[in-house]
Amino acid sequence: MSIIAIDDERVGERLLSIEQIAQRVKELGQQIGNDYRGRDLVLIGVLTGSVVFLSDLIRSIPGNLEVDFVAAASYGAVTHSSGVVRILKDLSHPILSKDALIVEDIVDTGLTLAYLIDRVASHQPASLATCVLLNKSARRRVPVDLNYVGFELPDRFVVGYGLDYAGRYRNLPSIHVYNLEESSGIECRRPSAD
Ligand code: 5GP
Repeated sequence: MSIIAIDDERVGERLLSIEQIAQRVKELGQQIGNDYRGRDLVLIGVLTGSVVFLSDLIRSIPGNLEVDFVAAASYGAVTHSSGVVRILKDLSHPILSKDALIVEDIVDTGLTLAYLIDRVASHQPASLATCVLLNKSARRRVPVDLNYVGFELPDRFVVGYGLDYAGRYRNLPSIHVYNLEESSGIECRRPSAD
């Protein structure tokens, strides 16, 4: 049972429970802690969807680390990327000679993450890797290297644990399918290969 009351019946089937997410985030944190032991690690959260994941993840990583944020936007409909990505917020601090780890909520076509990898690489870190909570590999349009993946997802639009629909549902503690077909008013086409 969710502790948040949601009055939108389009928020459907729960795909990942609070417990499943917590267990996997803990495993990822321990793995990252081991891999980067003694290194100069900077986690780079992608705003806004990754903030819930990032805040749990950093508390699961033993050892020193720093946190920074980037934000990107893609032109297009509410539920899918048009392919044209632009930066809204770049890094606040230099990462020259540090080990950078981009933390993203979900990878769908891969266009956003591919763009951000290039952008962060231009700051010349000592190394650059990626950590994503959710991977929808069936919808990939460009290849992206994913170093740490929480869960593989089917081709469904999901909300909760930081992920939104039109700005809502980020506060749901578990991850649910959002049934786009029944919605009206806001543009919410089923994602398609455009
Ligand atoms: P991509 O560029 O990989 O197609 O899309 C990445 C971005 O699209 C994510 O950072 C996220 O903002 C959004 N996105 C893709 N799939 C979903 C989904 O199932 N649910 C939500 N809430 N956002 C998604």
